[in-house]
Amino acid sequence: MLQYYLKVGDFMGKQYKIYISSRSFGIYTEEAIRLLKSIGDVERNTYGRPLTEDELKHVIKDVDALIVGIDNVTDDVLKHANRLKVLANHGVGLDNIDLEAATKRGIPVVYSPHANADSVADFTLGLILALLRRIVDAHLVTKAGGFRSRKFLGVELRDKVIGIIGFGQIGFRVAQRALGFGMKVITYDPYVADEVLAKFDAKRASLEELLKNSDIVTIHVPLTGETRNLIGEKELKLMKKNAVLINTARGGIVDENALYKALKEGWIAGAAVDVYEVEPPGRDFPLFKLDNVIVTPHIAFYTREAVRRMDMMITHDVVNVLQGKRPKNIANPEVLK
Ligand code: NAD
Repeated sequence: MLQYYLKVGDFMGKQYKIYISSRSFGIYTEEAIRLLKSIGDVERNTYGRPLTEDELKHVIKDVDALIVGIDNVTDDVLKHANRLKVLANHGVGLDNIDLEAATKRGIPVVYSPHANADSVADFTLGLILALLRRIVDAHLVTKAGGFRSRKFLGVELRDKVIGIIGFGQIGFRVAQRALGFGMKVITYDPYVADEVLAKFDAKRASLEELLKNSDIVTIHVPLTGETRNLIGEKELKLMKKNAVLINTARGGIVDENALYKALKEGWIAGAAVDVYEVEPPGRDFPLFKLDNVIVTPHIAFYTREAVRRMDMMITHDVVNVLQGKRPKNIANPEVLK
């Protein structure tokens, strides 16, 4: 079945073999594909889904550059990389790549940090408004022939407290937007400097204080050993009953079973979820059964501008590494020494 990969490049006389597994890479950026094709033979994944570990093992054997999306590049996969010169992640998170294993093997990992921060921040505000103004429900009811009803009574954002967990590139952009709506910003991020918080009029809080005092809690931390299940039953019980939770960060940060219970039993008023422990979640995913949830298919980052930005950052760095130049956005610079 692996022989069915669509060949994009013309394959004669090119120096490098480049494989693109990310489905969104280069779709809107002809320039990126053109640049890659100018230095190598380009193939891409035509399965319409991330590659399995076995498929990746097969592909990685014979390529100089591999561009992945959310495919899991494990140590076991990397063992099969005979000639890989650069591994590129078409995204900002790196939790799908065993960075330590790549570093151990001297493989540079390039990525596109912060390329989609504005897109995720926009989407977060969109989800907040959709939840608090019942936009999705109202749309469905109107289309089905219904009209205004008491259940669509919403709340304003002005003077509401937004609790931002993780005040990095996305977190501070959410704060900027929230301030524009007249909201008060509090944040839990033990690693961010006071000056950064002061710049965005954000007050530092402990996780407990944030959960107890926020009308909206939004998560913008990476998935790490420390943040896995950061929000479970205990934390959800601390939240206000009329508060909502937004997760556009990563599945695994919020315990999905606990969230189901919290929404079903009314510990909190609603949630919007863009990311899942297993993606895509199965049809019988428990949260789908609830009315007080908005679910989206991991698209917070997905805008023309962000995808193009990611495409070009990745492309330049793949070309840089293959041509022996220093890449701009490398996750493991120690391999260059
Ligand atoms: P970033 O590295 O700029 O910011 C992350 C912040 O989290 C940092 O300020 C860091 O200090 C803080 N942090 C780390 N560990 C923490 C902890 N235990 N408790 C509290 N704060 C902690 O990253 P970013 O660009 O803002 O992205 C955040 C996350 O959003 C990414 O890691 C990624 O998983 C996710 N993301 C999702 C999408 C999507 O489409 N849904 C797109 C892009 C990014």
